[in-house]
Amino acid sequence: MSIIHVLDQATINQIAAGEVIDRPSSVVKELVENAIDAKASVVTIEIKEGGQKLIRITDNGSGILKDDLSIAFKRHATSKIVKAEDLVSVGSLGFRGEALSSIAAIAKVEVITKTKEDFMGNRYVIEGGIEKECEEIGAPDGTTFLVRDIFFNTPARQKFLKSVSSETSHISDIVERLALSHPEVSIRFIVNGQNRFHTSGNNRLKDVIYSIYGRDIAKQLLEVNLEKEDLKITGYLGKPQVAKTNRSYEIYFINGRYIKSKMISESLEEGCRTFLMQHRFPFCVLHMEINRERLDVNVHPSKMELRFQNPEYFSEQIISCVKQTLGGNDLIPETKIEPTVIKEEPVYNPAPKPIPEFKLPPIPPKKIEPIEKPKVVVPKPESKIVKPEPKLVIPPASKIRLVGQLFDTYWVVEYEGECLIIDQHAAHEKVMYEEIVESLSTRKFQMQQLLPPRIITLTPKQRTSYEQLNPFLSEMGFEVEPFGGSEIAVYGMPDNLIGIEPEEFLVGLLDRGSEGKKWVPEEVYERAATMACKAAIKGNHRLSEQEAKALFEKLVNLKNPYTCPHGRPTMIRMTQRELEKKFKRVL
Ligand code: ADP
Ligand code: MG
Repeated sequence: MSIIHVLDQATINQIAAGEVIDRPSSVVKELVENAIDAKASVVTIEIKEGGQKLIRITDNGSGILKDDLSIAFKRHATSKIVKAEDLVSVGSLGFRGEALSSIAAIAKVEVITKTKEDFMGNRYVIEGGIEKECEEIGAPDGTTFLVRDIFFNTPARQKFLKSVSSETSHISDIVERLALSHPEVSIRFIVNGQNRFHTSGNNRLKDVIYSIYGRDIAKQLLEVNLEKEDLKITGYLGKPQVAKTNRSYEIYFINGRYIKSKMISESLEEGCRTFLMQHRFPFCVLHMEINRERLDVNVHPSKMELRFQNPEYFSEQIISCVKQTLGGNDLIPETKIEPTVIKEEPVYNPAPKPIPEFKLPPIPPKKIEPIEKPKVVVPKPESKIVKPEPKLVIPPASKIRLVGQLFDTYWVVEYEGECLIIDQHAAHEKVMYEEIVESLSTRKFQMQQLLPPRIITLTPKQRTSYEQLNPFLSEMGFEVEPFGGSEIAVYGMPDNLIGIEPEEFLVGLLDRGSEGKKWVPEEVYERAATMACKAAIKGNHRLSEQEAKALFEKLVNLKNPYTCPHGRPTMIRMTQRELEKKFKRVL
């Protein structure tokens, strides 16, 4: 009997579908692109449970004619090209005619559509590639796609889906990029019944950035405008203050498409290098128009590869454009107005926040922008809570003998037959760090109210991550609540973390969550403690002998007293025997 057999059509379609649709976010991408291709000016995207349960995309575009409905769901059915040569010139987003057939092959799809010319609309249902229903119904102009139970007939693929939050985050990425690449289209994004963002469709990119990333970022943007041979760049570049810790906010579109290019990313980073701190990446949303003849486009089902005919030329242009944008603007006043009401140190924290370092551009400041008054949305503090300076308790039962201090920093100590030279600052940091980690993990802290509360604007992805993280945050002594729209308010935080910037801490946490990475509680405590120590340690603080003794007592009793949280040594040790060997008293 033959062991080779030909796969049936349904299986062939499912395999082909897998290349186009690998997760719910690809469904969203294809359907929103179709809506934009259909000249819609308003598109609503709604998802439930990471898109696996439901994706609903509604547009007010051209609609699909009744006779075209079933054809549209056939493989390689497209209204956009007729033959292969058309691929080179096609300006629309989709052109392979594979999306609808692929989606229908792996999900339950319902379409309600009406063209302007038709009096009645049509409803068409197709599940796993099999037509189920087709009927005339009343409907508004445009098209609504409902996609349910993705991969219901391919459980093997379903297993590869990540958690709901991770799929939601993928979809957020796609929808954000679509909104940023089409400021002329009003896009509403709804997750589990909650409005994530809504762009107005007024064709102003800055307004789209505001809708997605919030006021704090939108306030710190520099306009980019470059027109050179074969290259045009427009859009916005964030000032150094809004630089990010990862590359995911380097957003650029080439000829309308979101594309990742190593050359472009490296050029952007090179252009920013002298303006940003180390390990920081620019925030930008740039539209690049590149002469199509200078590009070699390789279309792959899931990604698009670009090769540039003269990469050095484009790289140079991008680098100098970024340098000019950052260098041509006066960045000084912005750093001065940075500590607004929202950024203000908590009233009970006397430690000043270090001003972030960045090199200033060589060009002298041109004009000082008027200082924008921040909107005060919270009541003024009525009373000040002053946290008392922690006093070190001097242990009665101590084996430590202080010999003396060197250079105002190092203490020479005799302890259990050893000579220790202890770095006072490193010791202080280490002891404090361990105490904070311990108190956080054993819940030995009290919630302190923040007056006024801190308002933090979140991106849609951070928002998803916040919903997940919130129970953990409250366990950790943070009182955080939604503050309407994309904002959250921090009303309280654990007293042992007073001094850290709640915004810096929480946003760092949420960013990591939104990248799909999980936080282990211990890691969170360690991160919090590191930040708290940094905020609390004061340089050249003179310790009295009693304070030093109490501090070192704590230090030597730690599990690992030898290195500070950053891995630097806290002490140098020498045993009595080693000393005697050095003096050749023993051999
Ligand atoms: P492609 O977009 O590559 O042409 P698709 O499978 O995505 O292929 O779509 C097939 C066809 O269905 C499109 O060419 C278009 O004519 C029609 N279509 C799909 N979605 C819409 C929509 N939202 N509004 C109007 N027409 C649509
Ligand atoms: Mg398409």
